This record gives sequence, C-alpha cells and structure tokens, in this order.
Amino acid sequence: MLPYGETWHERKLQRSIDYWRSHGIGLNTCTACSGSGRYDRHGSPACGACDGTGKTRGNLRSVEDAVVCIATLQQMRSQRREAVSCRKS
Ligand SMILES: [Zn+2]
Repeated sequence: MLPYGETWHERKLQRSIDYWRSHGIGLNTCTACSGSGRYDRHGSPACGACDGTGKTRGNLRSVEDAVVCIATLQQMRSQRREAVSCRKS
C-alpha cells in the first residue's frame, strides 16, 4: 500500500511552514543588527544573522520547531472542539 496518509501529512506540514514563512509568523527583531538589517548605517554589508531583513525566525528556525508548533495548535483546536461539544450536550 502506498503511504497516502503520510504523504498528505507531509504536504500539510510543508504548506503550514510555507504559510508561516510567507506571513511572517514567529518573526522576531534581529538582535545582531537591532532590526535595521545592517551592522551600521552606511556601506556595510547586509546583516548575516538575518540576511538583511532585520527579522529572525523566532521559534521557526527548523522543521522540528514547526512540528512542535503544529502539534500545539492541533492540541488547542481539539481542546476547543471538546469545549464546544460539552456546551452543546
Ligand atoms: Zn540582523
């Protein structure tokens, strides 16, 4: 049998990571350049810590961190669903 489920989850994970990256969730101001993207005002190279963006990825530096974030979100969602179903019954 082909692992459809695993593939789907991998795609879902990748979509979530891409979403967070493009929407800037988890971004923190870069501490190396204080958010300016450069080490000083004139003629300096872009900050190496943040590639000149002035932001670092916060808690999304690796796929492992993203997996933890997704697991936390899913836990929060399931807890919210349980709360709603309790109120209905
Ligand atoms: Zn920087």
